Amino acid sequence: MSITVAKTAGFCFGVARAVDIVEKCCEDKDNKYYTLGPIIHNKHVVDDFSRKGISPIEDIEELSGGEKLIIRTHGVGKDIYDRLKEKNVEIIDVTCPFVKKIHNIVERHHKEGYKIVIVGDKNHPEVMGINGWCENCAAIFATPEEAKNANFENQKVCVVAQTTFVQEVFKKIVTFLKKTCNDIVIFGTICNATEERQGEARELASKSDVMIVLGGVNSSNTQKLYSICKGVCPTAYCLERIGDLPQGCDFDSKRVGITAGASTPAVIIKEAIGKMENFESFEALMEESLKTLNTGDIVKGTVIEVRPNEVIVDLGAKQDGFIPAGEISDDPNATTDSVCKVGDEIEVFVVRVNDADGNIMLSKRKLDTVKTWENVKKAADVGEVLEGKVTEVVNKGMIVNYKGYKVFVPASQASEKRDADLSEFVGKVVAFKIIDINDRRKRLVGSVRVILDAQKKELQEKFWESAAVGKVYTGVVKSITNFGAFVDIGGVDGLVHVSELSWKHIKHPSEVVSVGDSIEVYIKDIKEDTKKISLGFKKAEDNPWEIVKSKITLGEPATVKIVRIMPYGAFAEIIPGVDGLIHISQIANRRIDNPAAELKIGESVEAKVTEIDWDNKKIALSIRALLPVEEAPAEVVAEEVAEVEAPAEEASDATEE
Ligand code: SF4
Repeated sequence: MSITVAKTAGFCFGVARAVDIVEKCCEDKDNKYYTLGPIIHNKHVVDDFSRKGISPIEDIEELSGGEKLIIRTHGVGKDIYDRLKEKNVEIIDVTCPFVKKIHNIVERHHKEGYKIVIVGDKNHPEVMGINGWCENCAAIFATPEEAKNANFENQKVCVVAQTTFVQEVFKKIVTFLKKTCNDIVIFGTICNATEERQGEARELASKSDVMIVLGGVNSSNTQKLYSICKGVCPTAYCLERIGDLPQGCDFDSKRVGITAGASTPAVIIKEAIGKMENFESFEALMEESLKTLNTGDIVKGTVIEVRPNEVIVDLGAKQDGFIPAGEISDDPNATTDSVCKVGDEIEVFVVRVNDADGNIMLSKRKLDTVKTWENVKKAADVGEVLEGKVTEVVNKGMIVNYKGYKVFVPASQASEKRDADLSEFVGKVVAFKIIDINDRRKRLVGSVRVILDAQKKELQEKFWESAAVGKVYTGVVKSITNFGAFVDIGGVDGLVHVSELSWKHIKHPSEVVSVGDSIEVYIKDIKEDTKKISLGFKKAEDNPWEIVKSKITLGEPATVKIVRIMPYGAFAEIIPGVDGLIHISQIANRRIDNPAAELKIGESVEAKVTEIDWDNKKIALSIRALLPVEEAPAEVVAEEVAEVEAPAEEASDATEE
């Protein structure tokens, strides 16, 4: 960026003189000073004087008399001087001498009968002031079109110009006036300072890429400068101060021209130059510090925004980069917010620069994929255990997704069982090792089984180190046969015989346990040579023959339930697992031939405990003993006695474990 400041920028002679005089007035603390309207068209200068005690008024009627009024460079009409005299207001006249000269020309020619023509803006204070020296009867033209229709036939015409008017337009207007007026005097009262400033601005603007015009928004000469610059320079800004420059202006490698209106103090111009020079050095520093990125680069950046569909990354480059959601991770299920958060440093691959939107497209997934392959190769070399999710079952195996890579696991390597249903693994995370790798084709073969085998071996070694009869384990029922259940007690299976599963008589182990049940077992026996383990499951405290001891007393009655009926009597359950025999002779207080005619299975009856043999686990019960005694024929009694003593083989059936 190059900066050129117009030599004519800033205060003109008239404004500098006026400001000097007002500065001196500020030192006079004994009198009250006012200005009629803003002293110059620059808010910052006016505000500064206000702070020093000299404020503008809009109308002299605001004055009561005795004050001092400063008439500004634009000048005022004659009537204002007259009224101020009447009001006894002291005048400090800083009207620019070039403007005062116009007043004199107009006053004199008006008195001599000339029609006064003022070329300028009829609403500008200077023009209004000039008009006040010909009793406000001047014709005022601002454009050649306005002058074109003027008719001053048979009139003497005196033409003056607003000091800050555009010279070229003035010339065109005069050309029209000359055509209609035979008697015309023309005073080129455009101030040299203005003419020079406008000429220099035009030339500078034609050589610049950007023009900055400094001055008040209400300043006529500033607006004219801006208009000139805009006409020849592609980009022009009109600013009161450099701080008003819109954000985002690009001065990169630009030729910048600076000019300023006649009311613009030097301090504002200096401020602008300083800011632009700093801007230049800042820009240079930024340029230096900004990275140049190319497609294929791997760079680090900082996450500055996480959106559902993309992540924005500050790369320290001119533009921020973005990672589309699909490029945030090699895990297809990952969401942007699950991968990163604002403030995270992130390494990314530059996919594309200078795309249509001027953005930089990035990918973390690509980088992850490259890194992952390197990690997979290392893992394969050292036999590292990896984890991945089973995504599908394929011919002869299943596919495990490891960070975006498909790992084929043959059926024989998928589990301990060769005939396992692989569909059960779909969706589950499994641990595996790489057992084959094709670097060129990026193909991987894995094995879950090698992990399971290794784990099992380790468990077995640990088990045998501490295995001992009586030791209790929590195991898992792996399989069930007619003769018992095999239980995994930590890499080693033991057998719980069917007789060890329950204190009650059971026909099949499935009445007590199911495959997958977690049960507590203890080692009953270890065959060291064959490594076979017998397990116990029943607990001593659950032994019904121990429990029943507290439930019954010899010679006392008990409530029992008929559970089986035999020709020689009925078995009655005292508590679950312990039955007693009610012999046929003890069912009634009379002779009976068929127990089933007297009792029903499931029926509860009262019976007396007539005999207990704890060693042989036999209990005899009698209903009859609780019934009233009936007279019976002598032969019947003899038969009953004979039956009770006789069938030894039947009595053995009365045991129940
Ligand atoms: S521009 Fe010219 S006429 Fe106007 S105040 Fe400045 S010196 Fe005077």
